[in-house]
Amino acid sequence: MPKLTAMISKRIQQLKPSPTLGLDATVKRLQAEGLFVVNLGLGEPDFVTPWHIRRAAITAIKEGFTHYTLTAGILELREAICKKLSEENGISYCPSEIAVGVGAKQLLYHAFQVLCDEGDEVITPIPTWSTYIEQIKLSCAVPVLVSLKPPFKLTAEDLEKKITPKTKVILLNSPSNPTGAMIKKEELVKIAKLAVEKKIFVISDEIYEKIAFGKKYCSIASLNKKIKELTVTINGFSKGYAMTGWRIGYAAGPKEIIDAIVSLQSQTTSNTFSIAQKAAFQALAGSQRPVELMRLEFEKRRSYLVRELSKIKEFSFTPPDGAFYFFVDIKQLLGKRFKSSKEWCQKLLEEEKIAVVPGEAFMYPGYFRLSFAASMQHIKEGIRSISKFIKKYD
Ligand code: PLP
Repeated sequence: MPKLTAMISKRIQQLKPSPTLGLDATVKRLQAEGLFVVNLGLGEPDFVTPWHIRRAAITAIKEGFTHYTLTAGILELREAICKKLSEENGISYCPSEIAVGVGAKQLLYHAFQVLCDEGDEVITPIPTWSTYIEQIKLSCAVPVLVSLKPPFKLTAEDLEKKITPKTKVILLNSPSNPTGAMIKKEELVKIAKLAVEKKIFVISDEIYEKIAFGKKYCSIASLNKKIKELTVTINGFSKGYAMTGWRIGYAAGPKEIIDAIVSLQSQTTSNTFSIAQKAAFQALAGSQRPVELMRLEFEKRRSYLVRELSKIKEFSFTPPDGAFYFFVDIKQLLGKRFKSSKEWCQKLLEEEKIAVVPGEAFMYPGYFRLSFAASMQHIKEGIRSISKFIKKYD
């Protein structure tokens, strides 16, 4: 009999597991072995979910809200999402145009499944979160990469060069993981015009929307009716509300697309966690002050890091407009002792016990991603150790 791994479907054999979750597993293993590791590789806020949200979940449990819900999510939550999208983003949806699911990640997967046929092309700017690439491939579509240069701002001009008769979707992620770059409204207007002219769908992942530094956020679907009809907006509670473990996200878009997502969901996950839906409702209905306090703390850490990283002459970077990442160019450090950013990051973890994610995980070697979703103490410790590590190999 052939080895079992060879009998796994070709599709899944080709799937690359999430490098960021892989790194997180390595850090947890080292920590379990008793080693002190400073984790600056994290893709999740280091804050506990605000108390009023947790309390709503406790109430839901006490009241026995423990059964299947509508596959698309409870109505009160979808209504609250519509209110949020209308008041904060200027987009008008009704609850039948919203699907709630198991995190933004699942909704993205379902959106690609619903929109793409075999051989369709999805224009994907890089550096990018590796999940997009794998999900696009799982939908039998082809990721067509647009390589961005610092400051990593996607333009309509970049996109236009990549459009072919097979282009089905343009993927946007603003603020971006891993660069933190945010696409300006003026550029979104041009991208929207292009998508409408060429009748191309847009999947707009807005998960980091609430973590923005000084720049006003703009959702592409808010620009006009025509682009709204082509856009699936993906968002969730993981980053802005520090709710990564609750697994709750949503898609907003034309009813036909949302119906198809819900239909797929009905045969895969069914509804997401009933209790988390009540908690998410409270996240939207309750005070937004904790969200702002978390954002302010991120802003403080960002300012500190802009100062400290600037002192390291071998680094170059663009300060992020949003999210909680710096994407740092380390090409000056490569070539002699270290052949790649992957090797550099591995050695940093082995020798200094500092975890950061190599650019290779974002299809962009020569860089690393440093997350500031870590305490100030850990960030300071991290910067000290990174400086020491660079001097050691000077
Ligand atoms: N989109 C981006 C760009 C992300 O970085 C992440 C998580 O790292 C997600 C989506 C996933 O969000 P969720 O936890 O809601 O699945």
